[in-house]
Amino acid sequence: MTVRVRFAPSPTGMFHVGGARSALQNWIYAKQQGGVFVLRIEDTDAARNKPEWTEGILSALDWIGISRGSYEGPHFQSENAGEHRAAAARLYESGRAYYCDCTREDVQARTGSQYQGYDGYHRDRGLGPGPGHALRFRTPDEGATVVVDLIRGEPTFENKLIEDFVIARGDGSPVFLLANVVDDMTMGITHVIRAEEHLPNTPKQQLLWDALGVKPPIWAHVPVVVNEKRQKLSKRRDKVALEAYREEGYLPGAMRNYLMLLGWAPSGDREIVPWSVIEEEFRLEEVNPSPAFFDEKKLRAFNGDYIRALPVDEFIDACQPWLTGTGTIAPPPWQPEEFDADAFAAVAPLAQTRITVLSEIVPNVDFLFLASPLIDEAAWAKTMKDGSAELLDEAVAAFEALESWDAESLKSTLEAVGAERGLKLGKTQAPVRVAVTGRTVGLPLFESLEVLGRERALTRMRAARLRLV
Ligand code: GLU
Repeated sequence: MTVRVRFAPSPTGMFHVGGARSALQNWIYAKQQGGVFVLRIEDTDAARNKPEWTEGILSALDWIGISRGSYEGPHFQSENAGEHRAAAARLYESGRAYYCDCTREDVQARTGSQYQGYDGYHRDRGLGPGPGHALRFRTPDEGATVVVDLIRGEPTFENKLIEDFVIARGDGSPVFLLANVVDDMTMGITHVIRAEEHLPNTPKQQLLWDALGVKPPIWAHVPVVVNEKRQKLSKRRDKVALEAYREEGYLPGAMRNYLMLLGWAPSGDREIVPWSVIEEEFRLEEVNPSPAFFDEKKLRAFNGDYIRALPVDEFIDACQPWLTGTGTIAPPPWQPEEFDADAFAAVAPLAQTRITVLSEIVPNVDFLFLASPLIDEAAWAKTMKDGSAELLDEAVAAFEALESWDAESLKSTLEAVGAERGLKLGKTQAPVRVAVTGRTVGLPLFESLEVLGRERALTRMRAARLRLV
C-alpha cells in the first residue's frame, strides 16, 4: 500500500504557523514512507475564500521547502462537488441518512431551551428531500467508534453520545465533514495527519467512512499550538501568519527547524539540527500530544543562530530584499539613496553577528546609504549633553589631522580626545555615534566610520556640532 497523506488548508486567511507545522509533518511522513504528499485546497466556503489566500498558501509552502511541483496537486475541493453530492445521495438511499426540517427553535421547544444537540425527531418520520430539508446522518444507537491515532492511541467515542449530525444543508450543499471525507476517499488518502482541533470531528467522519463502505484512514492528531498563556494561537491576538515571519526576516531553515520542535525533539541534547537529520529522525508516533508552546523568543534566538551560521556571501544575498527593495518580500521601510554593495559587504560580517532577524539590517546600516543619517531624536536628546559640542569640535579636529582613515587610528585618536577630558571611550564615542549614524546602538563605531569615509563622517560631525550651538 502506498502511503498517501494530504495537507488540506482552507484559503480563508493568512497561512497559520500551526498549518505550516502540520504541512511539514505530513511532508516528512510521506517522504519517510516512500509515499505521496497531496495538497488539497478546501475552497468550498465561498463566502470566506479568496484566490489570493490560495496563492499565499502555495508561496508559503514553497518558502518552507515544500516546493511547487514536488507534490501532487493542488487539488481543489470545489472540483469534487459532484462526488460530495453523490455520497450524500448514497447515504440517503441506503437509509444511513434522513431528511429533517427542524429549526433550532423546534428542537429547543421539544427538549428544553438549553439543549444544543438534535433529538432525532425525524429519524423515522420519512420526510423526503425538499427545499429547507437538511440531510442528517443516522448515528448508531449502540457501540463505540474507536479512532486509531498514531499519536493518541485509540480515543474511543460512545456512539449514543454522537448526535445525528447534518451532512448536507437545506439547500442541498454538503457540509465540511462530508466533503472532507469524500475527498480523502476519492484521493486514496491512507493517513490523515492534522491538528488536534479536528479530533471532535473524527468519530463522525469515521462513521461516514464506515457507512460509505470504505476502510477509514489512520489518523494522527498533532497538538494544538498555544501562546505563553497556554491559549490557542489566534490570528486576532497572536502573530500567527507565516508571511509575517517571512517579512520580518526569519530564515526558512530556522522556521521549519523550529516548527518541527513543536511537540518533538531530535536525539541528543540538540535543537538546532540540519533538515536532513530531522527528515531522518522525526517519528510521528513520538509527537507529544500535549499542547505545544510557540515561543517566539526562542524562535528569534534560533533565527539568530541560523543567520550567524550563513556563509557571509549568503548573508549578503539574504539581506538584499530589505536593503534594496528587490525580490518578492515586502517593500523595505526605507529607501536607500545611494546603496553601495561594496560598503555593505565591508560591514556585513559585523552586522551578521548582531542581528536576529534580517529586517534588523536596515537600522544597522542605513546611515551608510543615506545622504544624511536618520536622527533618532530621543537618542539625540539623551546623548547630546553639556560638553558634547566641545567634544565634537575636538574629535573633528583630531580626525581631520589623521593620515590614515582606518578603524584602528580612529579609535586611538578618539580615545586620546576623551582621555584629555577624563572620559572613558564609551562616553566619548556616544556623541560621535549619534552624529554619524543617528542612533545610540549599532555596528562597531570605528569600522562604521572607516567604511563611511572621511568626507561624509566629518560632514555629519560638523552638522551635529552646528545643531548644538
Ligand atoms: N480544511 C481544514 C482546515 O483547514 C482541514 C481539515 C483536515 O485537515 O481534515 O482546518
